[in-house]
Amino acid sequence: MWDSSFLDGTDHHVIFSRRNYYGPILFKIKLGLLLSADFSEVFITRSNPGSWPDVMPDERKYYQTIDEVRANYTAGKKTEDAQIMFTFRSPDKKLNLEKYLVEICYDDPKIKVPFKNGEIEGRDLIKSALEKAVEKYDRPTYKIVKREHTGRCKCYDFYTALKENEYQKFVDCFDISDHLSSKQISKS
Ligand SMILES: [Zn+2]
Repeated sequence: MWDSSFLDGTDHHVIFSRRNYYGPILFKIKLGLLLSADFSEVFITRSNPGSWPDVMPDERKYYQTIDEVRANYTAGKKTEDAQIMFTFRSPDKKLNLEKYLVEICYDDPKIKVPFKNGEIEGRDLIKSALEKAVEKYDRPTYKIVKREHTGRCKCYDFYTALKENEYQKFVDCFDISDHLSSKQISKS
């Protein structure tokens, strides 16, 4: 997979009702990307590449026909859906966000994070970082939206557990290492 870019086929926050382990920000991409002439081939994984053994035939790694994909993709089996990634073997090419970005969605962890000499709501930190980036790179059309989710979602519990039990991962997740006081650093 080292030579491929990949996109998850589903929003793991939604299908598992928990935070996405990649982080609190999600880029939603149009499926039209799959038909893009920028990529001559798209490989669709059957299972998570993280679990692949060193030697494994391509037929077991990737779907072989579009009918198989049709039968399995978003067919209501969320564990299977989470295994499906669209992969592009074109590391030299870039994903054209101007063309394919639907929106940039960020979580509201309902948790305070260290900021400067005090604290700030995590959602506000993320939102302002995204707004600054969009301004810096002159992309005013990119839509930035806060995630709406169901009452059943457990993402707050996951964020709270991350802060309490895995502080360094929490710091990395919000990119706040510059804002930690010496006391907070010793905690981590
Ligand atoms: Zn949630």
